[in-house]
Amino acid sequence: MKTIRLRKGRERSVLKGHPWVFSGAVEGGEAAAGELVEVCDSKGEKIALGWYSPASQIRVRIVPDAPIADLIAEAVGRRAAFYADDAVTAIRLVNAENDLIPGVVADCYAGHVVCQFTSAGADARKEEIADALMKFAPFCQGVSERCDVDSRAKEGLATEPAFRVLRGAEPPELVEIAENGVKFLVDVRRGHKTGFYLDQRDARATVGRLANGADVLNCFCYSGGFGLFARACGAASVTQVDISADALALAKKNEALQHYCGTAMEYVEADVFQFLRKCRDEGRKFDFIVLDPPKFAATKGQLMKAARGYKDINLLAMKLLKPYGTLASFSCSGAMDAEFFRTVLAEAAEDAHRPFQIVAHTHAGADHPVRLSFPEGEYLKGVVLRSIT
Ligand code: SAH
Repeated sequence: MKTIRLRKGRERSVLKGHPWVFSGAVEGGEAAAGELVEVCDSKGEKIALGWYSPASQIRVRIVPDAPIADLIAEAVGRRAAFYADDAVTAIRLVNAENDLIPGVVADCYAGHVVCQFTSAGADARKEEIADALMKFAPFCQGVSERCDVDSRAKEGLATEPAFRVLRGAEPPELVEIAENGVKFLVDVRRGHKTGFYLDQRDARATVGRLANGADVLNCFCYSGGFGLFARACGAASVTQVDISADALALAKKNEALQHYCGTAMEYVEADVFQFLRKCRDEGRKFDFIVLDPPKFAATKGQLMKAARGYKDINLLAMKLLKPYGTLASFSCSGAMDAEFFRTVLAEAAEDAHRPFQIVAHTHAGADHPVRLSFPEGEYLKGVVLRSIT
């Protein structure tokens, strides 16, 4: 096995359990894309195993000394409680580094497993991974792959074809899933991520519980998630806003899947930044606003610009709330930690001249575990704020 030697002192983060070795930490050694390598400290002492990525800034990703099929079986096994829960038919089976399988995401939509392989090591092992998922994932009908993800380009991996079946059944055009009493259609070929924002499941339930009787504005609605939970929980009205016509078309199809209820539904194709200003100018107000924007900061370098974006929409939303209104605000920018996000919200509240109290914090669910030694794994945070005037 080839050896990658680290610079003096750079073994520390590996020994603490961080799964990434950056190119700047490497003193010497080379290997092929995806090859299993030994990682040594500057004295030549072996400290870990890893997958080599010659084209990436993340040069080595640490892996356990175990067959990949065993790691998949263990990750799937840790989700047993989800399989026992009939109310949820879509879950994340493998959460990459957090499940000790770097660069492998596997989401299961009612038996159709959709993977993303975003490290050279993961890509090189995808046939074995697909076999293991077919074998160990309960109810698995087939395994497919999405390649159209930016992080593959950074690893020097092909981003086409966007979608292909690796094993078993071809999934239908739209896969129907259930999430805590609400049904969704998932476009596994063209939808965002692997088709659905599974990471917001717990947050959608929290928003639903708080939205009874409310006039709800759901910004960045995608396929309707938060808005359909608010509707299911008895919201008076729901306005779903997204810039994508395709997302709104799917949101409408998703509404049609639900039981009849009296909630008034409105769909608006608009840029949220502009729509919030339009509501302000028209004096339109809401009891409950959800802000779940896409990632504003991909890197630490974009953090300050991102902070201005978050502050802008949160300030506008705070001003659009009726008395005692609620704002559920999210950030999926990994570069912005939870504390900084709260600071941004506090600054927005100050400028809005409204006092708020935090009524809930939300996180990705237990099928998206975060490894304690890998802070980068915790990208998603949510804060639910209630105006106390
Ligand atoms: N809340 C959703 C996920 C939101 S993903 C859920 O629970 O499923 C972010 C969404 O924001 C995407 O659908 C994208 O089309 C939309 N979007 C991105 N920029 C936007 C903008 N400036 N204005 C409105 N929508 C935008």
